[in-house]
Amino acid sequence: MPEKKNRFLLLYGSQTGQAEAITDEIRDNSVVHGLDCERHCLSQAEKKFTLENETCVVIVTSTTGDGEPPETALKFFRRLKKRTLPSDHLSHLNYALLGLGDSNYTNFCNAGKTLDRRLEELGAKRFYPSGWADDAVGLELAVEPWIEGLFPALLNFLSPDLPNKSDLCCKEATCSMKEDTSNPVDNLDCKRDKTELNGTTITNCHPSTNGHSKEERDDYNGHDTPSSEIDRKILDNGSEDSLERKIEGISLANTQEPSLIKSVQPLCDAAVTVPLLTPAYLALKFNSEENVGGTSFPFDKTAATAISRATVISADILTSEDALKKSLKLRLELENEMSYQPGDSVSVYCQNDAKEVEMLLKRLNVLDTADCVCEIELMKDTKKAKAVIPLHLPNVSTLRNLFTHYIDIRAPPKKSVIRQLVKETTNPQEKRRLQELCSKQGMADYTSFIRNPEISILDLLQAFPSCQPTVERLLESLPKLQPRPYSACSSPLKTPNQLDIVFNVINIPEGDGRSFSRQGVCTGMLDKLTVDIQSRQKCEDPKKGEKICQLQVSARPSQFFRLPSDVSVPLIMVGPGTGVAPFVGFLQHREMQKTCPEYADQVFGETFLFFGCRNQSQDYLFREELMRLQEIEILTKLFVSFSRENKSADEPKYVQDNLLKNAELLLDLIENQEAVIYVCGDAKNMSKDVNQTFMTILKEKKGMSESQAKSHVTKLRLDRRYLEDVWT
Ligand code: FAD
Ligand code: NAP
Repeated sequence: MPEKKNRFLLLYGSQTGQAEAITDEIRDNSVVHGLDCERHCLSQAEKKFTLENETCVVIVTSTTGDGEPPETALKFFRRLKKRTLPSDHLSHLNYALLGLGDSNYTNFCNAGKTLDRRLEELGAKRFYPSGWADDAVGLELAVEPWIEGLFPALLNFLSPDLPNKSDLCCKEATCSMKEDTSNPVDNLDCKRDKTELNGTTITNCHPSTNGHSKEERDDYNGHDTPSSEIDRKILDNGSEDSLERKIEGISLANTQEPSLIKSVQPLCDAAVTVPLLTPAYLALKFNSEENVGGTSFPFDKTAATAISRATVISADILTSEDALKKSLKLRLELENEMSYQPGDSVSVYCQNDAKEVEMLLKRLNVLDTADCVCEIELMKDTKKAKAVIPLHLPNVSTLRNLFTHYIDIRAPPKKSVIRQLVKETTNPQEKRRLQELCSKQGMADYTSFIRNPEISILDLLQAFPSCQPTVERLLESLPKLQPRPYSACSSPLKTPNQLDIVFNVINIPEGDGRSFSRQGVCTGMLDKLTVDIQSRQKCEDPKKGEKICQLQVSARPSQFFRLPSDVSVPLIMVGPGTGVAPFVGFLQHREMQKTCPEYADQVFGETFLFFGCRNQSQDYLFREELMRLQEIEILTKLFVSFSRENKSADEPKYVQDNLLKNAELLLDLIENQEAVIYVCGDAKNMSKDVNQTFMTILKEKKGMSESQAKSHVTKLRLDRRYLEDVWT
């Protein structure tokens, strides 16, 4: 391939769309820097790009599961892993790599780090240091500076002789500090009333703003003022809707503390640097025709595995009414013989709450066209380079369908989205506050008032009533509504073509800027469905509501969290709360295997389950089933701990206390019987504490030092004898 001087290849490996969105930003920035960027998903290797033909590549990849690459990138990783590749295989290649991960998990950024190591082993050279972004603290903390430094490095590498290259690179660092009247955007800023502004300048300090459209520059013509108390007026459009009425609760006037709508010093007086405004690129063409088809099942062009339909054939509440959390169990009948193994998960395609969608459409002033058929097209005169319709959007739909099935309306708006909202906001105080929230200087406020409380786009629009974005802009910038995975809680041997899942219904209260209380998107949807199913069962009308019992699902096979193929291997299973789900599947599978002639001569290993809940009368999930499995000796021993029951000091509170109490047994299983340890459930606290407890056992019972115990557990992990399926 003829190599153009200013060209580079941009690749992403994305599981939930974050890595892809970051490459969107890199691509937009590359245009401003006069660079030619060709972007592909890692799944397109050998179809759209070949690393062997490239000289300069930028890769952004996330990590999923237990340190694995995103599903779409598995083939790419496998190909590079081949041992037969010589050590100079990629010696012509220069690269920059950004890994995304979550430090709540043991193998933080493992996919990115593995790729980084492998590229180096194959002779590729880094032209810019690799970056590691942590979702536990906010990806943007590492992503923003990494992208900022990437362009000087790219320019240096691609165009070392470019005369004004260093000017371009340095300008970004200085222009927020001084008024550069040679820059049109800064010029516009400087027009503002200096007395009123108290010397504050708001600058788009991107090096090459000359390419900005008039529309973009107009954005800066608003007379921005430093934030003062905003006397919040409640959005009142006369609706009786309960959600809208709740918004009154977010009046934040007269507080001295910073809040979503108000900053304090030094931020309110600071010069702020806002991200580049991406050009608009989507257009909607409405047909007058009403959508008579009702809500159709969505399709997902980006799905890594086939999507099939499943019918919910039963829905049970597993907890008592006074339990802290409500746990539900759904039994799904699978179509097309979708296959799975215990240990795998199933991804459930969910939809946004109908009332919330209605509220958002109303706030966007598009209710009158919400059910009209519309085509999504590219704007003819868009200034966005290489614009394409986002893959997750259908070409023809209705606004209600789009916002119900395809768009994540709950995800905290990214800074780039807030940057767009600035442009659509008329009130100067609101405009200024939005500028702060998307600025570099406002990072801490963004984290405190948007990221941590998980403010949605609707919350934000309610808090900033003069902001009126176009629906097209939101379709461009809001992320895809992702399916949610749930561990299979059954065995295909025991219930062929059926799969059980168990989950807690997530309830998120109003407050901290959230303008109304809400349920988790998927668990809320499944909770409503359970109510419907139960009322249908009560009125004994099996036909009624048949449609509402259908879900779209896809298999999410686990790479390692599976039963060992050798049935004699003993199992140590640790799963408090809904973390018990896969182990019910494991044990039921063992029960069926024992009845199969092919296992007739085999000796089955012992099985030990450590389960924990709050109270035996409230949330002891699968109590009867676990007792039954113990009685028939499929489960050798069940260890249960109740965290909120009155008990003596030596009674275990959590699963790890029970592990410690049974240290001798566990050590024997691990050291002498090659047992495999499985941990499932919460990644934030439980899995870390359990890991620590196994180290404590090794220290106390085998006299190991801290570092010896750590390497021993690491070795168990590498040998796939310590397996985790945990989630935050
Ligand atoms: P969302 O709308 O996505 O909102 C989630 C938000 O609610 C979070 O950001 C968090 O701030 C808050 N929240 C409060 N409490 C919780 C909590 N306990 N869990 C998650 N978020 C919480 N979940 C199960 O219950 N059972 C399973 O078997 C299961 N298996 C999983 C398997 C895999 C491989 C993975 C990756 C996840 C699994 N999960 C499981 C988690 C599940 O996919 C969803 O994340 C969870 O049900 C919340 O989805 P939601 O759409 O209702 O919430
Ligand atoms: P939960 O009901 O909140 O808690 C279950 C028990 O764990 C309670 O008794 C609780 O006690 C206790 N607990 C709290 N902190 C603990 C700690 N540090 N160590 C050990 N035990 C602790 O749990 P859950 O909501 O069902 O599940 C937790 C998470 O696992 C959820 O986020 C869910 O999404 C995820 N999950 C993931 C998978 C997977 O990845 N395959 C499968 C299932 C569930 P107290 O409340 O009294 O402190």
